[in-house]
Amino acid sequence: MCSVGDVVGIDVKTLSTSEYECLDCNNKFKGIGKRVKCPACKSSNVNKIG
Ligand SMILES: [Zn+2]
Repeated sequence: MCSVGDVVGIDVKTLSTSEYECLDCNNKFKGIGKRVKCPACKSSNVNKIG
């Protein structure tokens, strides 16, 4: 029973994106990875909200 492909597909979609809020410009966006930057003002001063 090798259903690894399905599991990986779900992980990539649901676990790697989180919602963030920029503390500098209050922009809300979805970020991927550990070092997330605001796409609007390029600030790394963001807060994870989702
Ligand atoms: Zn920003």
